[in-house]
Amino acid sequence: MGTANARPQAALALDVGGTKLAAAVVVVGEDGPRVRCKAQVPTETERGAAHVMAAMEGLAARVLSDYRAHGAPVPVEACGAAALGCPDAAGQRVAFGANLMEGWTGMPVAANMARALGVPCVLLGDVQAHALGEARWGAAAGAQSCLCVAPGTGLGGGLVIDGKLVRGAHGLAGHLGHMQSAHAQGMRCSCGKLGHIEAVTSGVGIGALYQGADIASADFDPAIDGAWVARRASEGDERARAVLAQSGFALGSEIGSWANLIDPAVIVIGGSVRKAGAVWREALVRGYRSQALEPLIDVPLLDAALGDDAALVGAAEYALDRSARPA
Ligand SMILES: [Zn+2]
Repeated sequence: MGTANARPQAALALDVGGTKLAAAVVVVGEDGPRVRCKAQVPTETERGAAHVMAAMEGLAARVLSDYRAHGAPVPVEACGAAALGCPDAAGQRVAFGANLMEGWTGMPVAANMARALGVPCVLLGDVQAHALGEARWGAAAGAQSCLCVAPGTGLGGGLVIDGKLVRGAHGLAGHLGHMQSAHAQGMRCSCGKLGHIEAVTSGVGIGALYQGADIASADFDPAIDGAWVARRASEGDERARAVLAQSGFALGSEIGSWANLIDPAVIVIGGSVRKAGAVWREALVRGYRSQALEPLIDVPLLDAALGDDAALVGAAEYALDRSARPA
């Protein structure tokens, strides 16, 4: 699956999220991916893009040298960097990410990593990589197409059709969080615009709903997030339960609308908000069924299966796909 090359193949993969930065060598054989020599550090986005870029290069070099010290049974031939923000169409630079980290827009991630590691590198979105990983080897393995939705710190998405990641003309395909929703009217999104679904469905958005104040308002407290609300709900806080139901229904409704546009074979739900509990999950399904056209009502809503390694696996697969192409 994946490339025309004989397997096994190996790629260095990076997963740069809002809180964690992970790197590993992913060895992909006919029987699936093996994640080797994984290492993880805090991303520390508050220290700015130059710091994070240096941390990425340092962590990847350490993982590569660790892998080589273990004999490197399959040589590393490429690097895939899955990162927060919007990649450009060529998979080289960050096209837009100033809202996430100072100095991130324009960062030449692929060139910097290629120089640090000595292998070709490609940049893609973190949830795009997550989607590809789940489509090749996770919950959506074997499905003709897969829409992956990941509510976490933000709300990301990815689309895989016939085994290929859909990246779009500008590299942005799958940015589901920035669709307008009636459920998010008047709420400020992380991208700066008003009324996007992320504003009420990400971990931050659930906190905003609970507080009745969006992220732009002076009395918004970021410490009250989705995990905090889920904990309160489990302790019997009725407001917390109502907010989880409202957020889950809003996201489900949006997914139903997206399904009408894309007609995916399966829908994979990833992201940390997925752990919010039964109230959220039941509302998500109700919301989905409220919007999906009749023939799409029973499209499976599957839980992501690869856990924290999904983006690493997808980034490696994407890098190996690209390196197999003639120059
Ligand atoms: Zn937005």
